Amino acid sequence: MTSMWHPFAQMGAVDGNELTIARGEGVYVWDSEGNRYLDGTAGLWFANIGHGRPEIAAAVQAQMENIAAYHTFGEYSNEPAGQLAKRIASLAPVPGSKVFFGSGGSDAVDTAGKLVRQYFHQIGQPERTVFIFRNWGYHGMHGVGTSVAGLSPNREGYGPMIDDVIGVPHDSADALQAAIDEVGAHRVAGLFSEPVIGAGGVRPVSETYLKESRQIVRDAGALYIADEVITGFGRGGDWFASNRFSLEPDIMTFAKGVTSGYLPLGGIVVSPQVAAPFWAEDSPMWRHGYTYSGHATACAAGLANLDVLEREKLPQRALAMETVLTEKLQPLLDLDVVSDIRSGVGMMAAVQFDPELIAADPTFANRADHSVRDHGVITRVIAGGGLQISPPLVITEPELDELVAGHRGGIQAVM
Ligand code: PLP
Repeated sequence: MTSMWHPFAQMGAVDGNELTIARGEGVYVWDSEGNRYLDGTAGLWFANIGHGRPEIAAAVQAQMENIAAYHTFGEYSNEPAGQLAKRIASLAPVPGSKVFFGSGGSDAVDTAGKLVRQYFHQIGQPERTVFIFRNWGYHGMHGVGTSVAGLSPNREGYGPMIDDVIGVPHDSADALQAAIDEVGAHRVAGLFSEPVIGAGGVRPVSETYLKESRQIVRDAGALYIADEVITGFGRGGDWFASNRFSLEPDIMTFAKGVTSGYLPLGGIVVSPQVAAPFWAEDSPMWRHGYTYSGHATACAAGLANLDVLEREKLPQRALAMETVLTEKLQPLLDLDVVSDIRSGVGMMAAVQFDPELIAADPTFANRADHSVRDHGVITRVIAGGGLQISPPLVITEPELDELVAGHRGGIQAVM
């Protein structure tokens, strides 16, 4: 019997069947019984630099010995938070951006949504309240993220949460334009968009779609919110996918890879235009923030993590390895049950099972997931009946071969 209610878990099945991860090193993790697994998902897409790096532990210890945490409300600050904000701003797609910290991706999305509406309130366009989201998109589980969930089961059963949300197909600029025309451009506050939809099934879209949709939002006078919680800090093949695809987001969310998961941290990067009404000498206070905004130790872990990402050129490595990943995964298509491999942007991919098979046998993907694990590789079922591939960015080619072999063996065993 466990007392811990697990997230996204059928507790009736999980109770008594937990898999306790006890240790990690590089791309490998070990469970409490000593079994080793190749971590093919980097936890939940976060362990970009891999597990068990002593330099992060050392940075965290040093910070804790100074002061573990102090708040940053009002004029209070701490050195790691100030430095990390500066470094993230220097990597951001829009020069002169400001950084607002929280503790993870979901509160980053809430922070972004509240800032969008407050911004339009401040500049005298309070009628702009409509958020547009893309179907299949995932933006975390706080109030705003739940309301703009592109996976409808994540939205259902809560009654009305945030009003004025519209879902559009994830890959059609025309549909986005039509939705804006229908509601009226003057009512639109912003589009929430993952440069590559992650948890919704790893769905890369054409660069043309990304550029056109960005322009449509600009032309509507609304704000473009790039949700880079997964794609940021190297996973998308650059510091941010928004840099790579020149998206110039008005607001960009980040989390996960900012610390590679060593401590919880997230936040938003805000363009100078959106920050301006709040940064003038006589500007109003933005009545928003969290106890742990700019948490000193989390930010110290972030700084040490950026050092590793920079020193080992991991964003460049993810870019260089994206074709290798695709080439190594393609042969899985010879398995009858695999209908598609989606990949091509950075270190993220999906092995898609045949939709007819999934419809006829809804448990198949779960059985495959467990079987792949029995073959020594951690994978994960993602929306639409696929398996998630998002290893640490430090993964080597032989380790990638092991990841693919584990998938092949595991899937074959349940076919
Ligand atoms: N946004 C995106 C694109 C995500 O993938 C996630 C989590 O997977 C979130 C937001 C929410 O992040 P968190 O789980 O840290 O709250």
